Amino acid sequence: MRYLITGGAGFIGSHLTEHLLARGDEVVALDNLSTGTLDNLTGVAGHPGFRFVRGSITDPSTVEACMPGVDAVFHLAAAVGVFTILDRTLDSLRTNLHGTEILLDAALRHDAAILVASTSEVYGKNTVDGLTEDSDRIIGSPLKNRWSYAEAKALDETFAYLYAKEHGLRTVIVRPFNTVGPRQTGRYGMVIPRFVTQALAGEPITVFGDGQQTRCFCHVHDVVPALVDLLADESAHGKVFNLGSTEQTTISQLAERVIAATGSASTIAKVPYEEAYGEGYEDMQRRIPDCTRAYNQIGFVPTRTLDDIISAVVTDRRG
Ligand code: UDP
Repeated sequence: MRYLITGGAGFIGSHLTEHLLARGDEVVALDNLSTGTLDNLTGVAGHPGFRFVRGSITDPSTVEACMPGVDAVFHLAAAVGVFTILDRTLDSLRTNLHGTEILLDAALRHDAAILVASTSEVYGKNTVDGLTEDSDRIIGSPLKNRWSYAEAKALDETFAYLYAKEHGLRTVIVRPFNTVGPRQTGRYGMVIPRFVTQALAGEPITVFGDGQQTRCFCHVHDVVPALVDLLADESAHGKVFNLGSTEQTTISQLAERVIAATGSASTIAKVPYEEAYGEGYEDMQRRIPDCTRAYNQIGFVPTRTLDDIISAVVTDRRG
């Protein structure tokens, strides 16, 4: 199989690239290197089945040039990270909306299956214990920029769903819940690489808000095979799947666990949300997936624990 991976130089995209090449597939990786980096691809540079294209998903001719011979597309490219969305809101919205529409069009023209990466953020402020794919979106005011990422991804899902329904495009939508692991950078906001970097530098660990908000983190090595299995499974086409772990932690506990795992002398510094993200920021207090659908479809069960994840990120950051 030949795959196009948009965002192929990103955190998840680079792991997926390695996974597919190791199976003997071919990969074209398209990335504008805005948040991705060629450093993520050093392990596959020069591989005969691999081609890197530097360019934007918002440029239809660049996307078109990647498509010949492609059997299936993993559309992972997006403006990501809370800091990115708050700093470059309009650009992020354009990338996350128009880019997806362009990829869906290209997949349709070339009769390629396409997996669209959505996000658990589409559930917004819904704190139910076990979000299923049918759970409601509870989103804040459109005047709060913070929600524009979730808005764009929700529309991407609708686009993908309608391309499947009205044009017969083979689509799969996934909603990852806090995917983490080696190579993820903390530069754009992601909490685990930030805490690990701070701990290794002996700097204060910046816990935003009261630290009682919870998250469930899932190792990228659990997520990547699930992406591949879902796209390969015809009976998954036209559907949406949560992908995540159900092991919960508060962010304060996470900070303590990172300090313990690194043996760091760092202290914990509570930072008010306004200081961290600017005025009027709303955080999700709780976000736990129910992944029964992915389990029933492909037997999805994450096997790495939060301790495994922390230790993998520590090893990665220590270089
Ligand atoms: N967070 C934190 N300190 C940081 C970065 C993030 O306390 O330096 C918090 C953030 O406010 C959120 C949680 O960690 O409650 C997860 O943040 P991340 O941006 O990784 O993911 P998301 O909010 O998209 O789940």
